[in-house]
Amino acid sequence: MSSNICPNCAETSLVEISLTVGGHKVMLSSCSACESRWWHKDGQTSEVTEVLELASQGKR
Ligand SMILES: [Zn+2]
Repeated sequence: MSSNICPNCAETSLVEISLTVGGHKVMLSSCSACESRWWHKDGQTSEVTEVLELASQGKR
């Protein structure tokens, strides 16, 4: 975990929640300062829609 900084306001104290979705490592980062949220999938920035897609695929 290296770049723990908010892309919106540069806050460095972030809340991070790691999940496994459909066999992928997914992390939700949340900024307590500006309430931005963003996702990483397998270490790369990801859209929430991608994560939801994985979740729905996993149910099949
Ligand atoms: Zn922020």
